[in-house]
Amino acid sequence: MSNNRTDWIENEIAGLKEAGLFNVIRTIDSPMGAWVRIDGRSLLNFCANNYLGLANHPRLLAATKKAVDEYGVGPGAVRTIAGTMSLHIALERRLAEFKQAEACITFQSGFTANLATIPALVGKADVIFSDELNHASIIDGCRLSRARVVRYAHNDVDDLRRQIEATTEYGRRLIVTDGVFSMDGDIAPLDKICDIANAYDIVLMVDDAHGEGVLGNGGRGIVDHFGLHGKVDVEVGTLSKAFGVMGGLVAGKQVIVDWLRQRGRPFLFSSAMTVPDAAACLEAVNILQESTELVDRLWANGNLFKKEMKNLGFDTGSSQTPIVPVMLGEAPLAQKFSRRLFEEGVFAMAIGFPTVPRGKARIRVMNSAAHSHSDLETALDTFGRVGKELGVI
Ligand SMILES: *Cc1c(COP(=O)(O)O)cnc(C)c1O
Repeated sequence: MSNNRTDWIENEIAGLKEAGLFNVIRTIDSPMGAWVRIDGRSLLNFCANNYLGLANHPRLLAATKKAVDEYGVGPGAVRTIAGTMSLHIALERRLAEFKQAEACITFQSGFTANLATIPALVGKADVIFSDELNHASIIDGCRLSRARVVRYAHNDVDDLRRQIEATTEYGRRLIVTDGVFSMDGDIAPLDKICDIANAYDIVLMVDDAHGEGVLGNGGRGIVDHFGLHGKVDVEVGTLSKAFGVMGGLVAGKQVIVDWLRQRGRPFLFSSAMTVPDAAACLEAVNILQESTELVDRLWANGNLFKKEMKNLGFDTGSSQTPIVPVMLGEAPLAQKFSRRLFEEGVFAMAIGFPTVPRGKARIRVMNSAAHSHSDLETALDTFGRVGKELGVI
């Protein structure tokens, strides 16, 4: 049986392991919080996108239990066939209100929101201008659309303008960018990109996955951060990061949301968010509407951590958000650093090529409102000790 038709996969996996690129996934035996249980130990968690600590928030748990008693757990089928639950409609209304958008539609995830939206807006004869560091789900959405993709240099509005000027044959046009870039924590210059979109009359789409619940007043997102209400055609967001649950959303013009209900393929051919997801997200919006406390604490924690890491002598890159990359250079050093942190009780992920360029390996620290002041002190102390031990500082 040497000529097995899946042998090639074993070879590929062996290759990944040899190159140190095989993903080993930790098993978590606790809720996702500031601390998590792994292999019987309690570790301080800096890996999750649980920016506001909502993943295990008592109010989200209570809302979920109540909704399950009222609606059950599953949506039963796709919304266009089995109808849509009032719970999902309520969530979409509340999200639109929260973000001061004309309308909102939800999806099963942020990933499917991109797969739904991009092919609904552009097709074979059309062109997409896409930031070179855009998220994989944007890249896949672009591919599915079969439009021509023109990449522009990261956050470089002059290059964007040059690429637009140089592209003369097109049907419809779309500009798409991440809001917050998750590996460096930098923010797209959406105000300037918006000016360009207006000057050339191009549809503008931003994917604010890491800005949703983080940027803007009380976490209202990147459009609020730049005061661009009503000026960005499509704002994609996720409910799986700061909102602490699972789901995706598109907020923007009513006509675009109406169109996605007719032509967004993951909306038409995949079932809705589950009842617990929708109920938990609705309660998360309620919490954010009531107070900016969690968002304020997230930023205070992120700013403190960044400042103290710089004082210790670490390079924290170009972050403008609570995401703190700790730049280490080569991937083996980043992996060793992460392993030593883990042994010392801090769970923080090493990220290397191809997720970031060669020579730019790092530990990515995800701050959260869930961390207490003493959690941060513990983490800083551990980073300092490991940094000295490995000759980084
Ligand atoms: C995480 C992320 C997504 C995917 O969101 P999910 O809700 O987890 O599917 C999409 N776009 C960007 C920019 C992201 O960072």
